Amino acid sequence: MLFDTHCHINDEAYAEDREAMMERAFAAGMTYMLCPGTDIQTSAEAVALSHQYLQVYAAVGIHPEDAASATPEGFAQIRQWLQTEKKVVAIGEVGLDYHWPEPSHDIQHDVFIEQVKMAAELDVPLDIHDREAHGDTMDILRKYGKGTRGVFHCYSGSLEMAQELIKMGYYIGFTGTMVFPKSKKLKHIVCELPLDRILIETDSPYLTPPPYRGRRNEPAYVQYVAEEIARLRDMDVHEVRRITEENGRRIFGIPSDIP
Ligand SMILES: [Zn+2]
Repeated sequence: MLFDTHCHINDEAYAEDREAMMERAFAAGMTYMLCPGTDIQTSAEAVALSHQYLQVYAAVGIHPEDAASATPEGFAQIRQWLQTEKKVVAIGEVGLDYHWPEPSHDIQHDVFIEQVKMAAELDVPLDIHDREAHGDTMDILRKYGKGTRGVFHCYSGSLEMAQELIKMGYYIGFTGTMVFPKSKKLKHIVCELPLDRILIETDSPYLTPPPYRGRRNEPAYVQYVAEEIARLRDMDVHEVRRITEENGRRIFGIPSDIP
């Protein structure tokens, strides 16, 4: 059992060997994968992959770095996928990213708020990207996201923020960045949170964990995130894999009899 809850298997980084990469994931024990979109094109690719592979589920949405590409037609398409595609289980990835100067914070806010409101209205989980924007991301969720749920993917906030998020109905996603020896804060946080709110993910093709750091990431490597949690919390790795898989199915509403 293994659930990589955030992997861009639709990325062009896999154009040459996607099938082999997927086979390695299945060989590592992967039972579920969630592929998020970052704009309309990549969301459509995620939906197509969910048709192609039994194990793949999709999230659809406009990423903050692509916020300038958002249109009313695009939002209508996202809504339509959520309402008609059984394996489209979340809006994502969406949120705020203040690392680069563009797009402007105003544009990012508008696009994020629109999708938070949609999640509340349609009662679907959010897959949230928050990079260097903790305060504003939380403010928008508190203001427009009452009653929403979802995951903070590649978590980078404080322990206190994670605890508030859990109270609000959110899960906390950990990537290979938590495995890096220097990530003392994340290692502390992953030990303090309730196990039933932790998810593991790769964010493939980015954020490759040791022992493959520096190379292209791929979903099979999510096993190293599970191993690190098992080591830190002194648990059996199979238990970590089982619990995080169950958590992923719970938050995304995926029944246990598939596949
Ligand atoms: Zn991502």
